[in-house]
Amino acid sequence: MDNTPTDVLIIGTGLTGLTLAYLLKKQKVSVSVKLIEARDRIGGRIHTCYLQGQAPQEMGATWLGKKHKALISLLGELGIEQFAQKLGTHAIYEAISTSPHQLVQLPPNDEPSYRIKGGTATLINALAQSLDSDQIILSQIVKSIELHGERLEVISDKKRFVAKKVIATLPPNLFVQSIDIRPRLPAELLQIAKSTHTWMGESIKISLSYQQAFWRAPGFSGTIVSNVGPIPEMYDHADNENKYFALKGFLNSSYFSLKKAERLELILRQLEKYYGDQVRSFLDYQETVWRKEVFTYATYENHILPHQNGGHPIYQQAFLDGKLYLSGSETSPAFPGYMEGAVKSAQYVFQQLL
Ligand SMILES: Cc1cc2nc3c(=O)[nH]c(=O)nc-3n(C[C@H](O)[C@H](O)[C@H](O)COP(=O)(O)OP(=O)(O)OC[C@H]3O[C@@H](n4cnc5c(N)ncnc54)[C@H](O)[C@@H]3O)c2cc1C
Repeated sequence: MDNTPTDVLIIGTGLTGLTLAYLLKKQKVSVSVKLIEARDRIGGRIHTCYLQGQAPQEMGATWLGKKHKALISLLGELGIEQFAQKLGTHAIYEAISTSPHQLVQLPPNDEPSYRIKGGTATLINALAQSLDSDQIILSQIVKSIELHGERLEVISDKKRFVAKKVIATLPPNLFVQSIDIRPRLPAELLQIAKSTHTWMGESIKISLSYQQAFWRAPGFSGTIVSNVGPIPEMYDHADNENKYFALKGFLNSSYFSLKKAERLELILRQLEKYYGDQVRSFLDYQETVWRKEVFTYATYENHILPHQNGGHPIYQQAFLDGKLYLSGSETSPAFPGYMEGAVKSAQYVFQQLL
């Protein structure tokens, strides 16, 4: 074991962890910073699938709005552009299973959503590129954190790390359920963390890429809103240059226990109602069942509501003699659960560390 403590050890390479590392790198004072990541990839809940000759397919975070000022400013600083989500003038709307779907006119959109040019992972990759290659350590599942005098020991499934400060960026419920902390964290924090909702943790993201955007033909639309399902909403997911085409949306989360092929068949049957059998000539199908992602989702002890305890004031404190911060999007008082919350949370911890 190397006993030289790292000044700041960040657990997780999602948007929070990478933004914090980027901010620390940018400041003049030199501090040693390492990031430990359980997955074999960076990005956490930001996961863009790139396949040759196809539109980047977002399995995680996709949209931002003008109100997400910290995120927009970070994108600007990194020279990353955004483009408006294509909605079109009409949507395919299915109100009830006993009536056929209709094409309805969409009302004017006062608050358009934007996507990141090149895919959301462009942001993650730009942040990672600002760091030294040895700062990020992948495939290390943190199992416990122990306070030993002036330092913390972070023990993964493979190694023991020593640090002066530790920043955990896992969703709070996952953090307290999967990492053993010695001495125990205050009971109040444990209880709040266990009932903090992990935003989108139950969702199923689906994407089908195609050679042609047949949904753009007159009388059709790539915007789908259905009360019948199993796809409640779906959108045109072409790349920003309109060169490669895809439809992307959500599948009703109760289908998590089916096999991938069974989910795909249900999806195709719904899309067939709207567009005919051309939906079966897709180039690729991607899905992520986030409930099955063990480095995102942990079951809850009690029933909880969306965004419950997001941005709770307890997350603004440090624990273990001021050496451990619980960070991550869900801990941010502003926009908890969203990418904006992740950037804000990184900025808050950065200020505390200064
Ligand atoms: C399907 C979906 C759609 C979304 N859509 C949007 C959207 O359109 N707009 C928006 O603003 N937000 C959206 N979000 C939310 C957005 O993705 C999150 O707010 C943001 O990415 C959270 O970043 P984070 O770094 O705080 O957490 P995470 O991305 O969850 O990062 C935590 C990191 O910790 C790692 N980790 C976990 N356990 C361990 C361990 N034991 N040891 C080491 N590492 C560990 C994880 O692998 C992960 O990399 C969406 C999320 C999902 C899942």
